[in-house]
Amino acid sequence: MKHIKKWLLIGLVSVSTLLLTGGAFAATRTSVAGVPISTYCSVYAKDVATKSVAINLIIKIKDDPTLKESLMRQYGTFVSLGKIYCQGEFAPEMYEIVVSKPPVITTTTSPTNSTSNIDISNNTPIINTQQGVFSGDEDYFTGYDETPLASLNSQQRETINQRITKAKNEFVEIVNELIQDGWLKAEDRNEMAGKISFKFSNNCNQLDGKILVRQWYNQFNEPIENELINLYVTINLCFTYSYEANYETFLDRIIYHELGHYYNYFHDLDNSEFAKICRLDGQNICANSDFVSPYAKSEPDEDYAETFAYYVYDKKPVEGNKLQQKIDYFKIRDPRYQ
Ligand SMILES: [Zn+2]
Repeated sequence: MKHIKKWLLIGLVSVSTLLLTGGAFAATRTSVAGVPISTYCSVYAKDVATKSVAINLIIKIKDDPTLKESLMRQYGTFVSLGKIYCQGEFAPEMYEIVVSKPPVITTTTSPTNSTSNIDISNNTPIINTQQGVFSGDEDYFTGYDETPLASLNSQQRETINQRITKAKNEFVEIVNELIQDGWLKAEDRNEMAGKISFKFSNNCNQLDGKILVRQWYNQFNEPIENELINLYVTINLCFTYSYEANYETFLDRIIYHELGHYYNYFHDLDNSEFAKICRLDGQNICANSDFVSPYAKSEPDEDYAETFAYYVYDKKPVEGNKLQQKIDYFKIRDPRYQ
């Protein structure tokens, strides 16, 4: 439990609530098993897209095999209820998954400080980080599954090739801009080398991106280092005028959003100051209008990435005290004003 990110916990809260009710749950238009239907269905939709809850259960079962039977039963209930109650309730937009690993440090050094500040330099993890080496813009990109492209005609294929080229150029430009503005560091190019990829979707309405980050902990269960596993953006196999006309905006929003997570996980590990603006005891205390997008409401890390994207990309003025506080969170960290 302690090695997972908060949003995975949300999924497990739903599952354990189900267990407590012994299956005799009450489902209304607004809640499933005592959990607000939007929360339940956002976790369910994420699990469908990324197997996030399932992966988390596998990690727990590995830690303690005696839990296997009860966790699998809970998971079965979680999925069956999702199938029944989440139809059309939540449209998947952008999903990420953060998978963490158990402690990897086996040496017995004592912690050099007990503050909550994470000082990576004082903890040398015994891990084999296969960091990429960046020497040119093409080095960011790794291969992708081209199977979905097989049925396209040659003109469509040409359009997709242009979109891929466009996506690569936009990624490079946005990373360069964020480095120039100080949000990212030049070394981040090595972290990203060989890990940026593309996926294809037939759904015209789906904006999709994913960042997979592995978190490393020391024996005191303090996060010491994050490792980028991969980051992808989806390119839609959609040939409508409106998709084509909006393609660059779609693309930029996804890239800024995913790099917002990257900034969070690599340069702003403790985002509790941000998270508490809209959360009290784990409950959302913000109104819909306090979020820059409906997706931002799904959980604090998504709110963080969406608000980051809004701050550095959309740059529009906002109304509302809570939303202004979230924008200010980035404003006071904006390296351009330091
Ligand atoms: Zn996200």
